[in-house]
Amino acid sequence: MKDWVEGARGGGLAAWWRTALDLVFPRHCAACEGEVDRQDGYVCTDCLMDILPVTDPFCARCGDPIDGVAGKVFTCSLCVKAEPAFDLARSAARYRGPLKPLLHQFKYAEGTHLAGDLSRLLAACVETHYDPEQVDMVAYVPLFHRRERERSYNQARLLAECLGRRYGKPVLRGIRRLRDTGTQTRLHMAARAENVKGAFSVTEPRWVEGKTFLLVDDVMTTGATLREAAASLKAAGAWRVLVATVARG
Ligand SMILES: [Zn+2]
Ligand SMILES: [Zn+2]
Repeated sequence: MKDWVEGARGGGLAAWWRTALDLVFPRHCAACEGEVDRQDGYVCTDCLMDILPVTDPFCARCGDPIDGVAGKVFTCSLCVKAEPAFDLARSAARYRGPLKPLLHQFKYAEGTHLAGDLSRLLAACVETHYDPEQVDMVAYVPLFHRRERERSYNQARLLAECLGRRYGKPVLRGIRRLRDTGTQTRLHMAARAENVKGAFSVTEPRWVEGKTFLLVDDVMTTGATLREAAASLKAAGAWRVLVATVARG
């Protein structure tokens, strides 16, 4: 999946104009602050190469990787105990190394300019595990409206819009977050699931019925939030929900 380095070349601004701009305003890598040595984006080649892709073995259902070896296809204990509402989930890379500062900036520090770099990672994951042609709509995990106002953007929506443009698919804006669930980071697994239970609903089920969704987010940790968001799509009649995230915590 290191083709995300190759795939990042070209596109966007005309090459000559980018070269001219770089002479005046050198782009600095958002992970290491070194100069960006590529034509596009805000991550240098060394940092891109240091991003650790999620590789086998991982849970056949939720894509959670395990360290070590597994001889055959396996399902993790979490998926066995409680079957997820999504059909499949996959992530591009492990949440460590350069991806940590990149996602932190993207999410909390107005790093919206990183949407291009991060959506290319996400697209590499989608194209490895799914067939984008079979997707009807792209969806994202919404923020509670007050949080989105405070932050002025939703990072998951930016990723969904990038993928929607890439595959020529519409983006569903009809999942609502019914209450502010706060931050999940300090909660353990069972508390996270309880905290987000019933937190989402679909406003217009007629847009959702019978469709296959690509549901995207930046990071998946226990998967509690994505399970609930997928459950709201399924409750509204979605046929399939395929989850893709940039990182796996
Ligand atoms: Zn770098
Ligand atoms: Zn699993």
